[in-house]
Amino acid sequence: MIDTHIHIGQFREIFYNPSEIIQIISDSGIKGCVYSSTTSCKDGVKYHEIQKEIEGVISHFSPSIFKPYLWFIPSYKAEGINIEDAMNDIPYKGIKIHPYANDWTNNIPKNNNILHELFEYASDFNIPILIHTGENGKDAPNTFEYFFNQYPKAKCILAHCRPVLETIEMFRTYKNVYGDTAFLSKANLQKIIQAGFADRILLGSDFPITHYFSQRQNEKITLQNRYNVDKSTLEGYKELIGKDEY
Ligand SMILES: [Zn+2]
Repeated sequence: MIDTHIHIGQFREIFYNPSEIIQIISDSGIKGCVYSSTTSCKDGVKYHEIQKEIEGVISHFSPSIFKPYLWFIPSYKAEGINIEDAMNDIPYKGIKIHPYANDWTNNIPKNNNILHELFEYASDFNIPILIHTGENGKDAPNTFEYFFNQYPKAKCILAHCRPVLETIEMFRTYKNVYGDTAFLSKANLQKIIQAGFADRILLGSDFPITHYFSQRQNEKITLQNRYNVDKSTLEGYKELIGKDEY
């Protein structure tokens, strides 16, 4: 099994040490993972900081097994960072965009131009785009619908599948749209399976954000133990969807 949704770095007030997190995944016996840095949500963050975190991980963990995704934020453009250069520098295996943490809907058409570059790159080089979804309107599953339609060869993954009915609607309309199980309830996963889209689902945990929320509820749990819980959730979901690769 591959865990397709892992994070490293700063998440609110906690810094999740990149190599420590990936070591935990590696020790868990899982075949591999996809990870991106939540430091990308930090106010005023510069690409250099993310680059250093990822380079630190890939010096110890093969990027073809523990796969870094480039979490692209609109302000990178002003830093002179473009997708090609970042990809040539670090062997990223995918792109992440987060329409709630980073506002893609303002500054049109500038931001739309960046989105075109990202989706075009994903399409040309056959790498996935992982897209955060949520209940806040601006992170609805159809936020980037125009691009799903425009770039049918780009594999677009709706992280969290939230809200689930809107997500199913995207699966129904676009063959290139997938979803992941990060913070997805079993009931909502079952709705997706019943709608006939089990084959669009990727197994992702969102660890260590799961750990962050456990801590917030005053649950004392180690990172290692939290990942054991997350991994067994994924194993249960794997049984339900009847596949494990992506
Ligand atoms: Zn996440």
